[in-house]
Amino acid sequence: MPAATDAPSKPVTATYEGKAKIISPHPTDTTQLCVEFKDDATAFNGKKFAQFNGKGLLNASISATLFTLLHNHGIPTCFVGYGQAPNTLIYQKLAMIPLEVVVRNVALGSVCTRYGLEEGHVLCPPLVEFFYKRDDLNDPLLSDAAITALRLVPPQTTLQHITEAALAANRILTEAFAHIGITCADFKLEFGLNPNNELILADELSPDNFRLRDTATGTILDKDTFRLDEGDLLDRYEQVRDRLNQDSIQALSLPTETFTATVLVTSRKSVLSPQSRTVSQYVGDNTDGCIQQVLANKQFELTVNATHHGEARVIAEKQAKQILSNPVIEDATVTTITQNHEVR
Ligand code: 5GP
Repeated sequence: MPAATDAPSKPVTATYEGKAKIISPHPTDTTQLCVEFKDDATAFNGKKFAQFNGKGLLNASISATLFTLLHNHGIPTCFVGYGQAPNTLIYQKLAMIPLEVVVRNVALGSVCTRYGLEEGHVLCPPLVEFFYKRDDLNDPLLSDAAITALRLVPPQTTLQHITEAALAANRILTEAFAHIGITCADFKLEFGLNPNNELILADELSPDNFRLRDTATGTILDKDTFRLDEGDLLDRYEQVRDRLNQDSIQALSLPTETFTATVLVTSRKSVLSPQSRTVSQYVGDNTDGCIQQVLANKQFELTVNATHHGEARVIAEKQAKQILSNPVIEDATVTTITQNHEVR
C-alpha cells in the first residue's frame, strides 16, 4: 500500500494496464506517454465487465476533441496529439495527484443516495467532490480535512486551485455540450503536475467518465447505458462523437460571467512594514509581550468579468503583481476565485 506521503504519484516508467487504458513510455520522447484506449467496459469497481469493439477508438477521439476545446479556452491539458493507432493518444508525462475530482450540475448516481436527492435535481452552484483514487478502498469520498491530513495534494498546488480548474473546465464543457443538445450532468477529472509544477488536466474526457443526457429526449449517452443495461453503448458514444465533431464546437465563444477574486498582499518576512512594526510594538507593550508580532496584511476583492475561473485568475494575478502590491517589499497572492452564483 503506498504511503499517503507518496502524493503526487510517481511518473510512469514502465507499461501499466488499467481498466480502460494501457499507458506506456513514448518510444523516443521521455517526457511523453502513449495512452491506448481499450475496448473494455467495467462498472461497479470492475465487478461488471464487457468488451465493445471500437469503444477505445471512440473514447480516444472524444477525449482528443474535448482536450483541444479546453486548450483553446486556456485550460492546460496533458494532450499532445494522436499516436500511431487511432485509439492511441500522446500525453505529456505528469506526476499524478491521487484524487478523482467529480463536478456535478445535475444529481445522478452516488450523490442521490448519499444526500437523499431526487435524480435530476439541479445543483447550482455546481457541486465539486473529491474521492481518493484507490480501487482497493472503492475510491472513498474525501473531506477537505482528510485531504489535508493524508497530504494528498502536493505542496506545489492547492485544493482551491484544483477546485477552480475543475469549475473552469465545467463552464466550457457544459456550454459545449449544451450547444449540441446534450446536458452534461456530471463528470470525473484527474490532475497532475508538470515538471514546472503547473497544474495540468489529465486522464480522459469520454462518456466513460461523464454523465450525458440528450436534452430533448433524456436518452442516456454515456457509460450508464452499460451500468444500467439501458441501450446500445457504441451507438450512444458514436452520437456524442459525431455531434462534437461539428466545426462550430471548436469555435464556441463563451459568455462572460462575473467572478470575485480575493487578493492577499503580505510584507516579505524580512521586511516588516512600518504599520506592522508600530502595531507590534503597541500590542506587545499592551499584553506584556504575550503577543510577539502583528503582521498587518492587505486584502483586496476584485470583481472580474471573465469566461471562466482560470481566465479570472490570470487577470487578477496580473493586477495583484503590477498594481496592488510593491514587488520589492511585498508578496501578492490570489487566494480565491469564486463565480458570483457560488456560495462563498
Ligand atoms: P458517481 O459518484 O455518481 O458514481 O460518479 C460521478 C461521475 O464520475 C460519473 O460521471 C462517473 O462516470 C464518474 N466516475 C466516478 N468514479 C469513476 C471512476 O472510477 N472511473 C471513471 N471512468 N469514472 C468515474
